[in-house]
Amino acid sequence: MKNYTAEDQFLANKVILVTGATDGIGKQAALTYAEYGATVILSGRNTKKLEAVYDEIESLGYPQPALVPLNLQNSSPEQYSQVADVIAAEFGQLDGLLLNASDLGLLSPIEHFDEETWYRVMQVNVNATFLLTKYCLPLIRKANKGAIAMTSSGVGRQGRAYWGAYAVSKFATEGLMQTLADELEKSDIIVNSINPGGTRTKMRANAFPGEDPNTLPTPKDLMPAYLWLMDIENNRQTGQSIDARDFL
Ligand code: NDP
Repeated sequence: MKNYTAEDQFLANKVILVTGATDGIGKQAALTYAEYGATVILSGRNTKKLEAVYDEIESLGYPQPALVPLNLQNSSPEQYSQVADVIAAEFGQLDGLLLNASDLGLLSPIEHFDEETWYRVMQVNVNATFLLTKYCLPLIRKANKGAIAMTSSGVGRQGRAYWGAYAVSKFATEGLMQTLADELEKSDIIVNSINPGGTRTKMRANAFPGEDPNTLPTPKDLMPAYLWLMDIENNRQTGQSIDARDFL
């Protein structure tokens, strides 16, 4: 997909929810979707950071975004249901869902892996992805066509020593993606996973403290792949494990 170029304003009148919109890849994806015309619903756990992204989108003259503060670590199923109710009341439908937020947890051998960290990573990376998908799906069905993108990782496709809960959570994400894509095969909703590959963000710096960040692509470099995931008029790929690097 090296030659993919998104059409200007192809996301006009589309509503897209982005989790982890406060930093890194999610923040850049929110800005980029807005640049291409989308009304972006920004979700995150830090209200100050969410408001800063909101202000940036407004100051650039893009469509007015919306804010959904939500901590994926400790929100109840009722809170996810309420999020869907708020989106339904405000917008009536949802065209795209980018499930991007994740918790790295810590790198440790399975034999010594801290249980609390394991549960937290599974809650943020797997259970929250399931809950948001479950409660948002009726809203996506209301859109003419829809796209769901779940964020994976290289270690969600091939296990690697010490990546523990994070790696296992990303395998689960791939499983959720494939299961849902199969269920929706006959619908106009595409469901895919995206592996960004090593990218210059806070999470990558935490995982690889000795690495020179200047050797890595930036979130902005990855945006062709992230636009493709939401290009529901042209993209009929579903159930696919996509690599952002293939678009560089
Ligand atoms: P960042 O750490 O830059 O951003 C992570 C985002 O997730 C932030 O917005 C963060 O919020 C949010 N988040 C974390 N925990 C929670 C929570 N409990 N509730 C709500 N939001 C939360 O990471 P990246 O941009 O690098 O990662 C984006 C995605 O890409 C992740 O799914 C990651 O696993 C994946 N990925 C990244 C790679 C890389 O090299 N960067 C490689 C492979 C996959 P806050 O701003 O409050 O911290």
